[in-house]
Amino acid sequence: MPDGIQADHPTAAHIIADRIDREGPIPLGDYMAIANAHYYASKDPLGEEGDFVTAPEISQMFGEIVGIWLADLWLRKGSPDHCHYVELGPGRGTLAHDAQRSMAKFGCSPAVHFVETSPVLKARQAQLHPDATWHDDISDLPEDGPLLIIANEFFDALPVEQFVVSSGGWRRQMVARDRSKFVAVPSVDPAENPAGGTTSGFPDGTILEHSPVSVEWAGNLANRLAKQGGTLLIIDYGYTRPGTGSTLQAIKDHMPVSPFDCPGASDLTAHVDFHTLANIARTRLLAVSGPAQQGQWLKSLGIDQRAAALTAASPKQAETIRAALHRLTGPEEMGCLFQVMAVTAIDWPEPEGFSYGE
Ligand code: SAH
Repeated sequence: MPDGIQADHPTAAHIIADRIDREGPIPLGDYMAIANAHYYASKDPLGEEGDFVTAPEISQMFGEIVGIWLADLWLRKGSPDHCHYVELGPGRGTLAHDAQRSMAKFGCSPAVHFVETSPVLKARQAQLHPDATWHDDISDLPEDGPLLIIANEFFDALPVEQFVVSSGGWRRQMVARDRSKFVAVPSVDPAENPAGGTTSGFPDGTILEHSPVSVEWAGNLANRLAKQGGTLLIIDYGYTRPGTGSTLQAIKDHMPVSPFDCPGASDLTAHVDFHTLANIARTRLLAVSGPAQQGQWLKSLGIDQRAAALTAASPKQAETIRAALHRLTGPEEMGCLFQVMAVTAIDWPEPEGFSYGE
């Protein structure tokens, strides 16, 4: 363990500290990649007893609505054979489980593919999906049919880079060691200009964030959809117009902590840049629907009716169902914070649920 580093998850902190001691400050994106790879590899972070709760873990209604949305699109496309259900970062496999159940009611039972790197979560997913096929990335996904791809809270876990205006010039945001702590510092050397050659109008301290890793994932996914047909549904918190400022955050035990406090022991995320992801899809001539707000999207696809049906079947669960519905759709809960965006092959039907989108 390099001098002075105290962390409750020594592996990630050790690797990062060791690299900084050898090379000097490292780019923020490298820091985030190492921290999250160790974080997800070491534990199942989901649920009340973990660090954060995701929509599919709140209620079965979430996955069911996603499943109905997919089945509707598949039916209107003429029920093509050899479709593949692909989920990126499927967590515990809960969303896929609930979605598959509602898709099957419409005769839609595609093969299940999970893109997942965490051995802990793979084991968890296998409990619900013993017949799934696992992939480390999308390069070896099947090529023989359309892909129905779901990414719920996946893109926010991918590393971001930041550029900061310092002494009148752009610098890359780096992570250094200050004795026992990690700290963000601007690079000594000027960075290649991220803002089209000018710092004018950007005061010192301005941060521009972007995620080359997300851009690469989105490009590869879009290429597959353009070639094979199908759809990609992205649900995440994020922004729909370019902006400035850091959105990097860390959560541990359901509480915000500093992103630099305990790499590998907290969930590091950044807001998803829907604007850029949509542009990537458009350059591949794919159709983009949304982003729409999660609450409106779920409501327009019938989550209120589903909640009423579940309540009628289990009246004792009425309060639990009501509370879950509120968490998923309430404007001050996940309803407005989370955005839903669909990317669809140009010869596929227009997806439902986006009449409220921007
Ligand atoms: N979609 C799930 C889990 C979200 S947490 C849900 O909604 O409950 C993020 C998920 O993405 C985890 O399954 C994590 O292991 C996975 N993940 C993070 N980075 C990844 C990467 N680079 N490649 C593949 N999976 C990744």
